[in-house]
Amino acid sequence: MIAELSMYLDNDNYSRIVFFTGAGMSAECGIPTYRGSGGIWDSYKWQNYACQRAFESNPEEVLDFHELRRIEVEKCKPHIGHYIIADIQKRKLNTWIITQNIDGMHQKAKSKNIIELHGSLWEMRCENDRKCFTDAKRPKYSSRKCECGSWLRPNIIWFEDNLDQGLLNKTNDVVSKSDLFISVGTSGLVFPAAGIPQIAKASGALCIEINPEKTTVSNAYDIKIRKPASEGLKDLIKEW
Ligand code: NAD
Repeated sequence: MIAELSMYLDNDNYSRIVFFTGAGMSAECGIPTYRGSGGIWDSYKWQNYACQRAFESNPEEVLDFHELRRIEVEKCKPHIGHYIIADIQKRKLNTWIITQNIDGMHQKAKSKNIIELHGSLWEMRCENDRKCFTDAKRPKYSSRKCECGSWLRPNIIWFEDNLDQGLLNKTNDVVSKSDLFISVGTSGLVFPAAGIPQIAKASGALCIEINPEKTTVSNAYDIKIRKPASEGLKDLIKEW
């Protein structure tokens, strides 16, 4: 199996590679997924913590929740799978990461060409001033309020938010040109991100899914690796 899979990366047939990562990619770092057993939404109601309406009615509580997540994420380190992807990017320069994760774990592993479809826990924005910035202080916020006096909110996609159209366009462009599409640890339940594997499939890319569990979009994949992210990614490279 290892020799078979590493072939995809070792030959020159594949040069435009996309890794599409979700919460399962970070699970082995100790960051909980949203869904499934032990998922965050088992313990917290998203209606109270992860939507604009909650933020407007109780900004401090919503900011506390996300600050706690920043503190927990800051303690975590990338696992071998993140480093494998970063290493592949060094060998295959036209390799992109499209992530639904907001934790910055790919950046910690020194990856490049990253599209953060759902934003970043480490960025804050002011709706009033229309400004967005990476928070220099971490893990706690440098400030909860903008100079204009408005509350700052994490620059992430909450329930009922729309994705950034520019990022979606860039994603469509990269995925439709890919020849090898590898999804790691995503449930395929969150749209529009869940439609991305179909774009890769329609463009003729070889599609590989790494996930210990079957997902609603598993049928779109040519090869399924039913392993955790680190193990599945090890299968993709030779003699790691
Ligand atoms: P999800 O929580 O809906 O699904 C997680 C998937 O990961 C499941 O299919 C599960 O089978 C799989 N999985 C669990 N452990 C795994 C492992 N060790 N290796 C590989 N796969 C594993 O996550 P999603 O599809 O990314 O979508 C949910 C949304 O939640 C996204 O918008 C994402 O932004 C957000 N989210 C992000 C983080 C993070 O930044 N780390 C954490 C939780 C949720």
